[in-house]
Amino acid sequence: MWNRIVLTALALSAPAAAQQRSALVVGSVSAAAGKAESGFIKVAPDADIPVTVINGTRPGPILALVAGIHGYEYSPILALQRLRDNIAPQGLAGAVILVHAANVPSLLRRTIYYGPEDRKNLNRVFPGSPDGTLSERIAHALTTQVIEKADYLIDLHCGDGNESLRPYSYWMRTGKPDLDEKSRRLAVAFGLDHIVIDDERPRDPAKSMYCSNTAATRGKPAITVESGGVGVVPLGLHTADEAILGLENGVQRILRHLEMIAAARRPDTRPTWIVRNAVVRSEATGLFYAEVRKDQSVGPGQLIGTVTDFFGKKLFEARAPFAGKVLYVIATPPISSGEPLAMIGAPGEPPAGGNN
Ligand SMILES: [Zn+2]
Repeated sequence: MWNRIVLTALALSAPAAAQQRSALVVGSVSAAAGKAESGFIKVAPDADIPVTVINGTRPGPILALVAGIHGYEYSPILALQRLRDNIAPQGLAGAVILVHAANVPSLLRRTIYYGPEDRKNLNRVFPGSPDGTLSERIAHALTTQVIEKADYLIDLHCGDGNESLRPYSYWMRTGKPDLDEKSRRLAVAFGLDHIVIDDERPRDPAKSMYCSNTAATRGKPAITVESGGVGVVPLGLHTADEAILGLENGVQRILRHLEMIAAARRPDTRPTWIVRNAVVRSEATGLFYAEVRKDQSVGPGQLIGTVTDFFGKKLFEARAPFAGKVLYVIATPPISSGEPLAMIGAPGEPPAGGNN
């Protein structure tokens, strides 16, 4: 009898060994099951992309976390350094790909919106091109090395170096009910208390423009999250402020939601759904004086701020197009015609499918 039990145990161990996760390769990084490894995706000198692959020991999905698409957005970049130490590969179901800083040229040259080489917004050139400009090559590397290998994607942003922002997520709807529902659940699970419903993203995978939309147009649930801004970071090594914690806790909630870690799921919070939004843009070039703060409620037609010429003469008054909340507002003076001054979001009814 004892022998039979041993034999049964041996027989069961063979398929278990066959289920062992294989190594996950991203760029120059190869992480065996149960290991976390860091390295780079090669793009160009001073533009290689730093990544960590945390490969679990159990079957599960591959979750990609992308920080630093905009190089002056520091909260996500710092949050991923903390998460690298706080996600253990042992016991993890599936794998996590951390893109620590997608846009190294923008990070090190301290540019907002645009890459320093080609003056292109990396988050408008996806899926990129292998022989295009530097931003297009970075986008192509992320598409082929990260997005195509992932099952789920979270693109982590914050207000850029000039943007004062209250935290929110984008839930992009593609018109595919199953995919949209999975993405909606990601947005709710992440836990930022405002979610912008976004129906404006292109549906063509060859012209996906945005990082998270590149995942969505390839059938993968994806969200964009925003927490932090104006280049503000806390004092000290690997410390966290409210903005960083909002991102870090959100990722931990996603790991629970996708059952990649074995912690008990916490009940979802009830977010405020932003059903209508508008980016108010400047119609003049000069200096911007804001009249509202982030998270402030505004009425229709309320003054958002004023643009003057370089001598102080008033050129343009920006006004709220409808009643809503200031999701972000430009907090520094320089402004060029056509650039955003603020984003206004109007709360409304939760989408079909409930509030969680
Ligand atoms: Zn951004």
